[in-house]
Amino acid sequence: MTKSEMIYEGKGKKMWSVAEDSDLLIAEFKDDLTAFNAEKRGSESGKGALNNKISTAIFKLLKEKGIQTALVETLSDTEQLVKKCKIIPLEVVVRNIATGSLSKRLGIKEGTVLPFTLVEFYYKDDALGDPLVNDEHCLMMDLVKSENDLDRLKHLGREINSILFSFFANKGLKLVDFKIEFGVDKDGNILLADEISPDSCRFWDAKTNEKMDKDRFRQDLGNVKMAYEEVLRRILSE
Ligand code: UDP
Repeated sequence: MTKSEMIYEGKGKKMWSVAEDSDLLIAEFKDDLTAFNAEKRGSESGKGALNNKISTAIFKLLKEKGIQTALVETLSDTEQLVKKCKIIPLEVVVRNIATGSLSKRLGIKEGTVLPFTLVEFYYKDDALGDPLVNDEHCLMMDLVKSENDLDRLKHLGREINSILFSFFANKGLKLVDFKIEFGVDKDGNILLADEISPDSCRFWDAKTNEKMDKDRFRQDLGNVKMAYEEVLRRILSE
């Protein structure tokens, strides 16, 4: 596969069109780290390769469990081949334990185990700071086609959570919360897209509650790369 033209550069990835097939794209994982709507910026050499490996392993697991994803195959340390799809402009956030913006906004003590899995939608718009939106906002702004699509996104979020929550529990990690994105392919199928990595999830060590994700960068805790390496090591461990 040959990279043709860079069609998009996001905070964590560059997307390239593919010379041989207009239905495919190459996603190139970057070493850049951003937080707080890109107000805080940094870089960690090798982070892109780690996220590519971690996300690929997670997407493969989800695919085995019947979740349709945009991932086709790994091309190199930092590149993967993906199906071209139209990204639904919503960040679907799934939460098991209160922290981050949920704790801040609603005053729920950090670390509180939620009585049920919470699914939230945030409108993907950097200029607006990705605001929280409800179902009616999504429908009013045509962010999805129908109420049925919203139900599907919530259902997929919960299903992915239940697969990953027990997978990571077996690896000694608490899956605190995560953000996922979906796209619609040319046949109208909703596919899990983007990535699932320590940039987009919160993982706490099951024994010590040590943070093993991008919060190490957000909160200047140090050893960002070591934490990502440890997450990959545990994912690949038997
Ligand atoms: N998240 C993300 N990208 C974003 C916002 C959030 O990947 O633009 C992830 C974040 O890593 C966490 C979950 O979504 O796993 C919930 O994040 P939260 O709403 O608490 O936001 P934050 O505290 O990061 O502002």
